[in-house]
Amino acid sequence: MTSQDTIFSKIIRREIPADIVYEDDLALAFKDVNPQAPIHILVIPKQPIPKLADAESGDHALMGHLLLTVKRVAEAAGLTNGYRVVINNGNDGGQTVDHLHLHILGGRHMKWPPG
Ligand code: 5GP
Repeated sequence: MTSQDTIFSKIIRREIPADIVYEDDLALAFKDVNPQAPIHILVIPKQPIPKLADAESGDHALMGHLLLTVKRVAEAAGLTNGYRVVINNGNDGGQTVDHLHLHILGGRHMKWPPG
């Protein structure tokens, strides 16, 4: 256990269960335990970057990989009519888990602006 350890690190290490829908060397995708849409999947880097604001220039390729993983996972989930991708960053952004994650929300029409 390190200071960067979160519930998502435990999911990566399979210490707590999650409904994992995709995995590769760099990323993991699993269903959100408290879905805000019919389909709500989280895509996370295996590297424990706490939040988007902590990403560095050396994370350039990883950041691109995460976005392309979103696309791949959304396609596999059948979200052909569109979807929303959300990154909550820090306190004002509403982030509650300090491990960077991209929300994929789909299966219903999204409203704008978000709350
Ligand atoms: P945030 O508010 O930080 O952007 O999003 C954190 C998300 O993680 C929330 O949507 C919350 O429901 C989800 N979450 C928190 N704990 C767990 C968990 O143990 N398992 C899964 N699958 N999702 C979780």
